[in-house]
Amino acid sequence: MDLHSPLKKFFGFNQFKGLQEDVVKSVIDNHNTFVIMPTGGGKSLCYQLPALMKEGTAIVISPLIALMKNQVDAIRGISENRGIAHVLNSSLNKTEVAQVKSDIEEGITKLLYVAPESLIKEEYVTFLQSQKISFVAIDEAHCISEWGHDFRPEYRNLRHIIKKIDNVPVIGLTATATEKVQEDILKTLGITDANTFKASFNRANLFYEVRPKTKDVEKDIIRFVKQRIGKSGIIYCLSRKKVEEIAQILQVNGIKAVPYHAGLDAKTRVKHQDMFLMEDCDVVVATIAFGMGIDKPDVRYVIHHDIPKSLESYYQETGRAGRDDGEGYCLAFYAYKDIEKLEKFMASKPVAEQEIGHALLQEVVGYAETSMNRRKYLLHYFGEEFDEVNGEGADMDDNSRNPKSQHEAKDNVVKLLSIVRDTKE
Ligand code: ADP
Ligand code: MG
Repeated sequence: MDLHSPLKKFFGFNQFKGLQEDVVKSVIDNHNTFVIMPTGGGKSLCYQLPALMKEGTAIVISPLIALMKNQVDAIRGISENRGIAHVLNSSLNKTEVAQVKSDIEEGITKLLYVAPESLIKEEYVTFLQSQKISFVAIDEAHCISEWGHDFRPEYRNLRHIIKKIDNVPVIGLTATATEKVQEDILKTLGITDANTFKASFNRANLFYEVRPKTKDVEKDIIRFVKQRIGKSGIIYCLSRKKVEEIAQILQVNGIKAVPYHAGLDAKTRVKHQDMFLMEDCDVVVATIAFGMGIDKPDVRYVIHHDIPKSLESYYQETGRAGRDDGEGYCLAFYAYKDIEKLEKFMASKPVAEQEIGHALLQEVVGYAETSMNRRKYLLHYFGEEFDEVNGEGADMDDNSRNPKSQHEAKDNVVKLLSIVRDTKE
């Protein structure tokens, strides 16, 4: 089957990225399908293209309204009929819902985006049962797993609701690389028979650097950002207070920056996110509340003012840079003091949780203090071997560009050992 003409026609792309073509074939052939690709890997197209080619409406389940809106707008851009894609959620009024329904009945709607909590509504389920559904895609499928970094209880019922609607193929997609979460997704969705496609997690265009965090960290950040005026970047901080502080410091220095965190009201958050997407500002200073599913392909850098609590989080957050395969600079500021702070946050949690949290943090320390190829370290964490000589992006980190002297490297080992010793006591 020729998939290149529809790829060109609908998306304007000449080539598939990575495993996309095989995934699309699997979905078109009505197989249950499981896709594991890093952020920026091009997962959306894996269900969008088959949806556009197949008869009927594909249901896309996605956890965030902002994310769905983003995608629907993009799909509408390729068609004369805006009914080609719809979102079904609680914000629609009666007239709007009627319009969505009639577009689905007439076979106009190829992609219907639904939040999991809306899919529970009896009214919607009954309606969808009577329609021609091509397949169900579950984006950000790790939300189904308590082992994932973003568990959403509403995701757990999806299997039953999908069964109720129709016996159609299910396609799950995630950027989570850990085995535990992958197993959980297949089991909970009831698709252990799925064709599984796992891409490499190597993001060869991303440059990784870790710098010691000193009292001059703010000056360092300002200098870094000023060298990239007009380019988009994200700065992650641990606390809302720090977000506000850094945003303000940048603004005072003539940099177009906005804050983003869960303490801001919804209207302000949407406004700041849109400003970033529309390039009315260069920098978003944010807590981890910002980012999931934001499709801004040309984010040129991600700075971590504070080191995150796991390498998985670090990988996801830095993954928002360079999604267009252009430059993506990932700069993390690290001080062991911050690790101690994170340990303290956990002190009130149940012991089992503390132990997991502690183990995850030790990996972060290892990454931050290593003198080895950082890409190799990160990929190893995800169970992937990386060839630090010939692998793609082999020299794209601070350690490879400026190997630490034997002396410094030894210092680090000594420091690391002392940490291990401390934690054992
Ligand atoms: P993911 O969901 O895996 O994080 P997206 O679906 O958001 O990734 O895609 C990331 C970026 O890659 C988007 O900007 C998208 O337009 C682009 N992209 C996807 N497929 C292709 C392709 N075949 N050729 C070129 N760019 C692509
Ligand atoms: Mg995605």
